[in-house]
Amino acid sequence: MRQLVIVGSLAYDDIETPRGRSGRVLGGAAAYSALAASYFDLSINVISIVGGDFKQEFFDLFSSHNIDLQGVEVHQHEKTFYWAGKYYEDMNQRQTLITDLNVLEKFDPTVPDSYREPDILLLANLSPVVQFKVIKQMNRRPRLIVLDTMDFWIMTMLEELMQVLKEIDLLTINDQEAYMLSGKRTIRAAAEEILKMGPRYLIIKKGEHGALLFSKDKMFFAPALSLPDIFNPTGAGDTFAGGLCGFMATSDDYSFENLKSAVIAGSVLASFTVEKFGTERLASLKQTEIMQRIDDFIELVKFDFPKTSHIFSKTNGQ
Ligand code: AMP
Repeated sequence: MRQLVIVGSLAYDDIETPRGRSGRVLGGAAAYSALAASYFDLSINVISIVGGDFKQEFFDLFSSHNIDLQGVEVHQHEKTFYWAGKYYEDMNQRQTLITDLNVLEKFDPTVPDSYREPDILLLANLSPVVQFKVIKQMNRRPRLIVLDTMDFWIMTMLEELMQVLKEIDLLTINDQEAYMLSGKRTIRAAAEEILKMGPRYLIIKKGEHGALLFSKDKMFFAPALSLPDIFNPTGAGDTFAGGLCGFMATSDDYSFENLKSAVIAGSVLASFTVEKFGTERLASLKQTEIMQRIDDFIELVKFDFPKTSHIFSKTNGQ
């Protein structure tokens, strides 16, 4: 069976949106990514850290999704990472209110032996120092190394982030973060700049406006499924990354063409996450509803254009 190793935060999130407040719910990049990947037939292994306050029901939830937690350290006398964020009417705009790193602050993971030869390594949102240390503990280079990050790390650890970017294949990042990282103000210019930093592939996420995939000489755009209501976008990016990696690992094809389908798989899974607070919706999906959304997606982007020349036959005096 193919293996995906995910390193990322496990958290208590507290989210405020125009619809209401979540209270303390399960969050963290690794939680969303691992649950998204759990819908694929592969071995999923998480590296993270939590405090003694992390509820048993969360461990049980991961176990019920066959997610291996051997790489999750529990520090009984400390607190789990806590993040609070607020969304406004335009759900693409988010403000971080509180980032209490708690146990994350001193996290120095030892990768379990059984995690050192994965097909794919997903470095989900976490300190770039930890991401780098995890790469260096691999016995051989994974077929694909994917990295996700956020404004917090770009602002506080840019140098360390630049170092880890040199080691990876694919960076996923949102549009605002891409501008921040590149210093450019258009998507194309930002993509060109970021691709020079190391990764072979880049995905720039634009929230409810979809995602763009870039390589040095190719580009692909996938819209987001147009949902009637977005309840809470937290975790959509992590879900996207987990779904994308799950798809890539299962299909074992690391080409640009296959990445396009992986982008669709990630987008479809993310479309469920935004329907509820926390991981509630993502954790309880049926295969039929996932497949229905894949069909909806295909329908959304499918069109024929007549290939006859007479359509643009009116010339401009030429
Ligand atoms: P996303 O909405 O996909 O960008 O990710 C939101 C998740 O990232 C939340 O569940 C948070 O717990 C987690 N998160 C927020 N800030 C950080 C951070 N500085 N490091 C790691 N994870 C974070």
